[in-house]
Amino acid sequence: MTDIDNLNIGAYLVDKQKYEVREAPMPVIKNPDDVLIRIDYVGICGADQDMFLTGRFGIFDVDFPKIIGHEAAGTVVAIGPAVKNIKVGDKVALEPGVPCGKCEQCITGHYNLCAEVVFKGAPPVTGCNQRFVVHPAAWCFPLPGDMTTRLGSLMEPLAVGMHAANQGGVRLGDTVVINGAGTIGLCALAACRAKGATSLIVIDKSPVRLMKAEAIGAATINLNESDPIKKVAEITKGRGADVVIEASGNAIGFLNTAYYVRTGGCICCVGLGPKPIIEVDYQTLIYKEVTIKTVNRYCHDFPLCISALEADLLNTEGIITHEFPLEKIQEAYEFAINNKDIAIKTIISF
Ligand SMILES: [Zn+2]
Ligand SMILES: [Zn+2]
Repeated sequence: MTDIDNLNIGAYLVDKQKYEVREAPMPVIKNPDDVLIRIDYVGICGADQDMFLTGRFGIFDVDFPKIIGHEAAGTVVAIGPAVKNIKVGDKVALEPGVPCGKCEQCITGHYNLCAEVVFKGAPPVTGCNQRFVVHPAAWCFPLPGDMTTRLGSLMEPLAVGMHAANQGGVRLGDTVVINGAGTIGLCALAACRAKGATSLIVIDKSPVRLMKAEAIGAATINLNESDPIKKVAEITKGRGADVVIEASGNAIGFLNTAYYVRTGGCICCVGLGPKPIIEVDYQTLIYKEVTIKTVNRYCHDFPLCISALEADLLNTEGIITHEFPLEKIQEAYEFAINNKDIAIKTIISF
């Protein structure tokens, strides 16, 4: 490493809608189980866009100046003395949330629901939009063979999509409707296909997003051109879908899932919109005896996604649409926010 490589540079969100790229404190390995990573790529998530736009994340205010970012991959440059699973030079994807390991949720295998989770990039915890990051080795997943860290930066949303497919109980031969073809919708689509769903229908209104869904193997419905309820009925010959994945976060989108799902089917909700309370067709859901599942991030899904990618079972073609260098992070966020119809996943290269 040269001196210039040893300098940590961070992208600080200094105020609403304002980034500043400048020198940041060099993170140091304090815990023997930690590793130091030279970050290569970080994806821009919907939550990051909200924090940039409004200075808020859920119920928390962003404590400016703040380094956010949680969809990260990079190369290991140093390891703590107790690290065994990772060596210097390994390419890794970072699972950003480190759970406590001691609570009821953690010990019963639902670590994604741990209330004590320390999640990189969720204020007040410092995130990954910086050149160097220290992270526990157990939450760094090596990328095999020629798998790139560029693809590695997609692992976090891919894990959400995989968890949605798992929560929905998608099985071989299933018909699946996915409402919303943003990053999470497309990642869920790839995961459902990998799990053996044979009829996949994706609903959105952006022709570019729908084109991406078609490239991954879905039939598509453009909301601006046809009535999605009639169209789903037509494609499924009146039966409806075994599983409906709601990935738009839109209130009407969720209401309509009751009409897409078959009697006895499952609705799996992963999209989270701004309205906490929304309308449902309770009567239809009762008569159809529908199972409703929800998704909060992911649980043991990073290794699954990496194996499936390595076996060429997950088609993520075209989900990363735009890339900006660190110096242009301000422009990158503005672009991602203002071009939602064409920008699916925008990433920052470090
Ligand atoms: Zn994310
Ligand atoms: Zn816990």
